[in-house]
Amino acid sequence: MDYSKKISRQVAGIPRSGIRDFFELVQGREDVISLGVGEPDFATPWHIREAAIYSLEKGQTSYTSNLGMPSLRKVISSYVSGFFEVDYESDSEVLVTVGVSEAIDLALRALLNPGDEVVYHTPCYVSYLPSVSLAYGVPVEVATHERDNFALRADMLEQAITPKTRVLMLNFPTNPTGAVTPRSELEKIARLCVKHDLIVLSDEIYCELRYDAHDPHCSIASLPGMKERTVLLHGFSKAFAMTGFRLGYACAPQPLIEAMMKIHQYAMLCAPITSQAAALEALEHGEAAMLKMRDSYHQRRDYVVSKLNEMEGIRCHCPGGAFYVFPDIRETGLSSKEFAMRLLEAEDVAAVPGDAFGDAGQGFLRCCYATSFDELKEAMTRMKRFVGTL
Ligand code: PLP
Repeated sequence: MDYSKKISRQVAGIPRSGIRDFFELVQGREDVISLGVGEPDFATPWHIREAAIYSLEKGQTSYTSNLGMPSLRKVISSYVSGFFEVDYESDSEVLVTVGVSEAIDLALRALLNPGDEVVYHTPCYVSYLPSVSLAYGVPVEVATHERDNFALRADMLEQAITPKTRVLMLNFPTNPTGAVTPRSELEKIARLCVKHDLIVLSDEIYCELRYDAHDPHCSIASLPGMKERTVLLHGFSKAFAMTGFRLGYACAPQPLIEAMMKIHQYAMLCAPITSQAAALEALEHGEAAMLKMRDSYHQRRDYVVSKLNEMEGIRCHCPGGAFYVFPDIRETGLSSKEFAMRLLEAEDVAAVPGDAFGDAGQGFLRCCYATSFDELKEAMTRMKRFVGTL
């Protein structure tokens, strides 16, 4: 059968992920130190796993409310109020989802009509472009630059806005650059959103993982006039090391949550009850474990940034958050892909070519430092040796 005629044009038009291409090369190779995969190297803290086990022991194996367990929504609402300084009604303004991934998809499908433009900053998380296209939107990229520490600048954003722009997607701290955007710039961005009547999808999945005490996380939802036009997305995968639990949430004004629910209730019904029980425990008692993991990432960030900056031809800005560094390899004369392939061949170190995250990432490499100190040390030694051969 000619399956190409059976697959929708929308899906057929989605390009292959650059990350996937790269990791197919790594598959099956022994001795590779991977700085590639963007997930915590910690197992989920034990008391959170226990909560999941206990929930199963109690026989909690049913569906929950479509919105998510009321007890979990209450705790999310008070966590968000404390951390982000925005208040959401737990029974109408919080939706528990299958990861932030589902929430992104729901929000875009709920908001876009075919041809609506969605602006986002690049280099960015690999799902943004396909998610916009699958929702029949038109992706519009705004490049961010190393000279600005990859922060989004309001003046650059304004140039990308047209009468067709409906949604702005933000992600701070950013995957893959670790960038954060200063509050003063976020305020300018917020004013643009009001001026152009945009809805903001604010993916804040790395918000707990910020390392500079003088520069705490600020959500755009907390700025004047922004709660009503923001869908705040957050989840448990990163800060609580719970990627496999697949749990996230969206907070937004009731009409937006209601629109997302229309899709979620048929596509997912609800997020898994076992994961919801674990998430409840994470928010109620997980702070100490989370801070310990954060401190460990902080030390590793400092180590990796200083080691990379010692290498000839490599420059690495110090990212304010997440667990990625995004070194500039342009002085080596190699493209991102050539650098990554040759590093893998010569030294068995896997890092992702920066252009897998959009053209603005060309000349950079994404290294995830959520791997053991021993492996990081070895990876840095091997990388220095590799760079010395160029
Ligand atoms: N958003 C960003 C920026 C990410 O980096 C990731 C995962 O890497 C996700 C969303 C997906 O998160 P989840 O595991 O909650 O679906």
